[in-house]
Amino acid sequence: MKVYKSVRSLTKKVFEIKKCNKAIGFVPTMGFLHDGHRSLIRKARQDTDCVIVSIFVNPVQFGPKEDFKKYPRGLKKDLEICKKEGVDIVFTPEPKDMYPESYATYINVERVTDMLCGESRPGHFRGVATVVTKFFNITMPDIAYFGQKDAQQAIVIKKIAEDLNMSVKIKVMPIVREKDGLAMSSRNIYLSKEGRIQAQSIYTSLKIAKELFNKGELDSRKIINRIKQAINKQPEARIDYIKVVDTKDLKDVKKISNEALVAMAVWIGETRLIDNIVLKTGS
Ligand code: AMP
Repeated sequence: MKVYKSVRSLTKKVFEIKKCNKAIGFVPTMGFLHDGHRSLIRKARQDTDCVIVSIFVNPVQFGPKEDFKKYPRGLKKDLEICKKEGVDIVFTPEPKDMYPESYATYINVERVTDMLCGESRPGHFRGVATVVTKFFNITMPDIAYFGQKDAQQAIVIKKIAEDLNMSVKIKVMPIVREKDGLAMSSRNIYLSKEGRIQAQSIYTSLKIAKELFNKGELDSRKIINRIKQAINKQPEARIDYIKVVDTKDLKDVKKISNEALVAMAVWIGETRLIDNIVLKTGS
């Protein structure tokens, strides 16, 4: 496994790999790796000849009042995990290499970024879209791997690849959860002991939604209300959004027909957590 810090040196290496006709699998991350990241890396390892993982806390996707500075970092352990998982290349650029002072180009994806996290975190997807596009240009992947945990992000990335005629294939992997159901996230470390217990209500409420749906409830408002009830029982919880939306364009769905995405963002104390579940008839 080799670690590349500079864009220039990795670009050179990628050209060599391409010349040998090797399939490149790319997994972009912000580090502080957990089993969710691991699942993407494992899939990339299965599918492709050369696995590249980026570890970069992208300043451009954080708002001025968000947690860029305190975002958890742990490169040593991350590198150990990558090595264990058989990663070929880890890319750990510095912000000044990705965004030199002269930097001026940003990717703006319309419509699918208007709602959900796009509404609560203005500029977030502009930062994500920009960094992922840059990474795609640097690593030239055949397949890139994303997690369903960030469902809106996966849709935004698919849109970029489609609209900008990129040849990369986007694969979205299922949400990996802790034993009690909490979706794994680098941010879970922010939770207090009590907050960690209250955070269980997020997945519990999504399971309630699924049960309701499976029993025949198709009215989004009723499903959302039941989720709200479960979350609001938690003293430290504050709902950012709970929405039932179309799985492709993320527009609000009033009455579910075949399938819908239930997506939510909840603050537990000072920690904002997201989660989602797909409701599908016959599943
Ligand atoms: P992050 O480091 O949080 O930016 O995440 C990097 C990639 O890992 C993104 O594509 C995420 O959607 C994915 N990911 C994060 N947490 C999970 C999880 N619990 N299960 C599956 N994928 C995840």
